[in-house]
Amino acid sequence: MTTYEAVIGMEVHIELQTETKMFCGCSADAFSAAPNTNVCPVCLGLPGALPVINRRAVAFTIMTGQALNCTIHPHNVFARKNYFYPDLPKGYQISQYELPLCTAGKLEINVDGQRKTIGITRVHLEEDTGKLTHVDGGSLVDLNRAGVPLMEIVSEADIRSADEAYAYVSQLRQIVRYLGVSSGDMEKGAMRCEVNLSLKPVDSDVWGTKVEVKNLNSFRTVRNAIAYEIERQTAVLEAGGQVEQVTMGWDENRGRTVVQRSKEDAHDYRYFPEPDLPPLHLDEAWIAELAASLPELPAAKVERYTVEWALPPQDAAVLAENRDRAEYFEAVVAAGAGKISPRTVGNWMTGEIFRLLNESGLDVTAINITPQNFVRLMEMVEKGDINRLAGKDVLAEMWRTGADPDAIVEAKGLRQINDLSALDELVTRVLAENPDAVSAFKGGKEKIVGFLVGQVMRASRGKANPKIAEQRLRQKMSE
Ligand SMILES: [Zn+2]
Repeated sequence: MTTYEAVIGMEVHIELQTETKMFCGCSADAFSAAPNTNVCPVCLGLPGALPVINRRAVAFTIMTGQALNCTIHPHNVFARKNYFYPDLPKGYQISQYELPLCTAGKLEINVDGQRKTIGITRVHLEEDTGKLTHVDGGSLVDLNRAGVPLMEIVSEADIRSADEAYAYVSQLRQIVRYLGVSSGDMEKGAMRCEVNLSLKPVDSDVWGTKVEVKNLNSFRTVRNAIAYEIERQTAVLEAGGQVEQVTMGWDENRGRTVVQRSKEDAHDYRYFPEPDLPPLHLDEAWIAELAASLPELPAAKVERYTVEWALPPQDAAVLAENRDRAEYFEAVVAAGAGKISPRTVGNWMTGEIFRLLNESGLDVTAINITPQNFVRLMEMVEKGDINRLAGKDVLAEMWRTGADPDAIVEAKGLRQINDLSALDELVTRVLAENPDAVSAFKGGKEKIVGFLVGQVMRASRGKANPKIAEQRLRQKMSE
């Protein structure tokens, strides 16, 4: 039996986080305002109104193209894409067709530790449409979103599975968030995906009929729709049938793709250069300036954390996951230079700090622990002034109050008992109170020493140095 492989290309639309819309001065914040209040003659498409290009939206698109290793074209052209739909007041959308801003890039994805490069065909700039809400007896249109800058990223058909597609869109979102060009919030529609999918026999280069799946608005939906389509098309082919060229949507309730239109309804958009806008001729120096302004991207950070700082790849990945997190981590590493290793900082971050973030639901920007105080705490633990358990308590207290660790340690009397005579007193007492454990140890039950250490810790109210306590316990029992 023939084994099939999926050939998947993606088109991802991303709303840009500009102050104003793509071609007018209306606010680009389509969510907070009452419907149809962020509108003007330009975005309403009234006769005689003329568009003006939003410079920042162009900059954001170029930066994204640069982050995706694209060629940036200083000379590019806006085009009219003609079609009629109630959420499109002009009867056409201004987009880019023949000469987009960015082409021929690539993005390296990581699926279960396997790296793979996905080609980026193009990144272009266009305007968003309005929003329709379907209600009983009709549809409501809100044009606040009409004209919001929208970037479209088109990939090569290099994706082969639902997991790869998931990794691809996740990494795209991570990049636009790092760049600060978009919120990337899929649930708010700031990022929307379309998938082109066909199957081919594994040992052949002949692709089957391509099916489009549109309006995938969450990562989960992207993954589910692709998995479903692969299964559906495989079943069609295995039954000797033919896959039809259709455009589909995803029915969340039924967990399946549904046909929205067939090949016969395919649009002819009659693209032509936008007559109301001049072609863009961008200054090369400005493009270079934008390139120089790019932040270090997550993939480069992960590389640096693992190679230069010896962090485990898993830790490096979660620390670089978002820019705020990475910046806090790096600030702590910098504050601890020469005193605390980045790996130790990474341990505390991925362990205690992430736990506190999860429990509180707060963002890393809300942390009121200064990098200096954080370093001081780790130093106290490393030096044995306090034990690790006490260190966690102190950190939690720092989290709540922002106080410095020395003050907390003093106030709580947490300074570790490293003094041998004080420890020996506790050890002797614990041994006397637990004769059964002592004889079990002497009878070869090595592990019981852990229990005894626990007793010493309890007797010291957590302040004993557990390492020294264990040494003393072992020594005394073998005397
Ligand atoms: Zn407007």
